[in-house]
Amino acid sequence: MGSTTVVSSAALVVDADTVILGGWLAFSGDEIVGCGAPGELEGRFEGATRWDLSDLILLPAFVNAHTHLCFSHLRHRVPFRDTFTAWLIEVGATALSDSDDAFAAATREGAAECMRTGTAAVGDATPRWGTWGTLDESGLGGVLFLEVFGFGGAGSENTVGQLERELPELAAKRLAIGISPHAPYTADAQTYRDCAAFARANDMRLMTHLAETAEEVELLQHGHGPLADFFNLRAAPLGASWQPPGMSPIAYAASLGVLGPTTLIAHANYVSSEDIGMMADAGAHVAFCPRSHAFFRHPRHPVEEFLNAAINVALGTDSLASNDSLSMLEEMRDLRQRHPAIQPHVALRMATENGAKALGIESRYGTLAPGKSASFVAIRPAGKAQVTRETAMGAALEGEAEIEASLIAGKRMPADEET
Ligand SMILES: [Zn+2]
Repeated sequence: MGSTTVVSSAALVVDADTVILGGWLAFSGDEIVGCGAPGELEGRFEGATRWDLSDLILLPAFVNAHTHLCFSHLRHRVPFRDTFTAWLIEVGATALSDSDDAFAAATREGAAECMRTGTAAVGDATPRWGTWGTLDESGLGGVLFLEVFGFGGAGSENTVGQLERELPELAAKRLAIGISPHAPYTADAQTYRDCAAFARANDMRLMTHLAETAEEVELLQHGHGPLADFFNLRAAPLGASWQPPGMSPIAYAASLGVLGPTTLIAHANYVSSEDIGMMADAGAHVAFCPRSHAFFRHPRHPVEEFLNAAINVALGTDSLASNDSLSMLEEMRDLRQRHPAIQPHVALRMATENGAKALGIESRYGTLAPGKSASFVAIRPAGKAQVTRETAMGAALEGEAEIEASLIAGKRMPADEET
C-alpha cells in the first residue's frame, strides 16, 4: 500500500444509479479507501496528497467484456467484403503465421490503449496462450479466456488436455484464467462438453462465440452455406464425422450443457424469443460489441429484448480486426446512437457493472466503493453548462466530452492520444 491520495470531482458517479455532486474519492495503492459527499471528507485522510479534478466527471473505470488484444496489430488490415467466413479466412491468412513476439507486442499495445481510454478490466480471448504473461503484466484485470479448438477430428494444439497440463502454472498468475470453446464451427459437440466440464471442475468462467452470424445458423440448422463450404474444402470434410444438430446455436449450446450463470456468450446476434428464454433461464451473460456488429453489417441487435428479459448484457469492443479503437466510451456512444432508447445510465451500467458481473470480478471492478480497485475515468464535459445529478452521466457520454485522465489499478494514465 502506498500513501493515500484524495481526488476531488465535479461529479462522482459511484455507480450507474448514484451521482455525488462534488464527490471525492480516496485511494491508496490499488484500493479505494473512501468516497463520499464533500462534507464527509472533513478530518479524514489528514496529510493525504490532493489531486484536483474538480471540473471533471469521475466514472468507474470500464470493463471491456469481449476483446482479443493479441489481434491489435490488425487494425484496418482486413476489410469486410461479403461473408464472415471469407473475413475469417483472410484474418487467418494475415495473422496466424505471425510469431509469438508479434502477438505479444500486439497484446501489449492493445492493453495500453485499453488503459489509456479508461478500461481497467477485460474479458480477453486468445488462441495464442503464450501471450498470457504479457497481459498479466500489463496492469489490466479481468479474465483471460484461452481458446480451445477441435472440430470433426481436425488436430489442434489448443485442447482441454493441454489446458489441464498448463493450468497449474497459469493459475499462479494475477489474471483469472477462463476457457473458451471458440465457436460452434471450430469446436464440435464433444469439445464443447469437455470445455463445460473442465470449467465446472476448475471453477472457471466459460466464454464462447455464439449465434454470431447467419452463416453459423445455416451450418448448424442445415449443414449448408459458406462455413460448410469452407470445411468441405479442407482436409477433413464435413460428412460422416459431423452432422448438423438441426438446432439454433443457443438451443445447441443448451443441449450440450454449456449455458449457465458462469457462461458469457459473445455476440448472440441471431436469436429467437425461445433462445432468449433459454438464455434468461440459464442466467447466461451476453457481451454485445456494437461497432464490431456494424462492421459485419448484421441486422439490428436484440439488446433491448435481452435487457427486457433481465439478461445481464455487457459491452465489448471485440478485436481491432473489426473495430477502429478499444475505447469503451466510443462503444457506449455507438450503442446509444443505434439504440437511442437505451438511457445513459443503462449504457454506463453495461460498460461497467454488467461487464464485471459477466466476468465474475464484481468484488473488484464495476463501481467505485471502498475495497475495490483504484480505477476510474475522468471526463471533461462539453460546453459550460453546470453538471447536475441528473445530467452527469449524459454529459460524460456525450460525443464532445473527452477523457482527460484515468487511474487504472492505482496508476495514473496519460489521456488518450489519437492513434
Ligand atoms: Zn470474439
